[in-house]
Amino acid sequence: MREILRFLGRGSAFTDENNSAFFTSGNELVLTDLPMSSFCKLRRYGPDTLSGKENCDITVLVTHTHGDHTGGIATLIHYTFYVIKRKVTVIAPSQEVADDLRLLIERLEGCCPESFELVTANEANRPWLKDVIPTHHAPQLEGRCFGYRFCIDGENVVYTGDTAVIEPFLPYLEKGTYLYSDSSAYNSGVHISVHELIEKTAGLDIHLYLMHLDDPEKILAAAAGTGAQLAPLFGQQSC
Ligand SMILES: [Zn+2]
Ligand SMILES: [Zn+2]
Repeated sequence: MREILRFLGRGSAFTDENNSAFFTSGNELVLTDLPMSSFCKLRRYGPDTLSGKENCDITVLVTHTHGDHTGGIATLIHYTFYVIKRKVTVIAPSQEVADDLRLLIERLEGCCPESFELVTANEANRPWLKDVIPTHHAPQLEGRCFGYRFCIDGENVVYTGDTAVIEPFLPYLEKGTYLYSDSSAYNSGVHISVHELIEKTAGLDIHLYLMHLDDPEKILAAAAGTGAQLAPLFGQQSC
């Protein structure tokens, strides 16, 4: 099986390494969300090491605005602008989320407007970005949580972001799809349980990777014998 996305962390909000992944398209390093723990890893390894490209462009694609998905974005913007002299592009799934991110990045975190570019997925016009998929996650963020469908190296890739339900993504799971899905051991109501996820995707001819893990051991036990795997981590875990 090919490795499509690699993860800087695959933990839920209350873990040391929050969930975020990356891939390279052309000269662009694309990060799906950026918690502070992933910024630390990105700085340590360097964007060019992650991308395998020299002087790569850096893009952060946001699923929703919870802190375990956005907490490192402004620090990354400061770092790339002042230290390595590059400009980050932030892609928001919708105009509403873009407005929220502008408030966070500019007003609250104090990034200067010339240090980053903020666009919606529609405006971004990236060949790898195929669909923005609205989903349900936390009621307080209803209407502002999204997953995505990508085409990466010719593969169909679906990334749920944080989700309580798998149904919005089912129409995109054609044969051979790489599905990276939120999955939880505990029933919180805002993250889909690993049991429900496996049951509802059983029989589909897809590659299922589990991410945003609250209890990796319990989730691994639930996935045993199903073909589902934990999302692949890049580099050393810090703990
Ligand atoms: Zn989360
Ligand atoms: Zn969340």
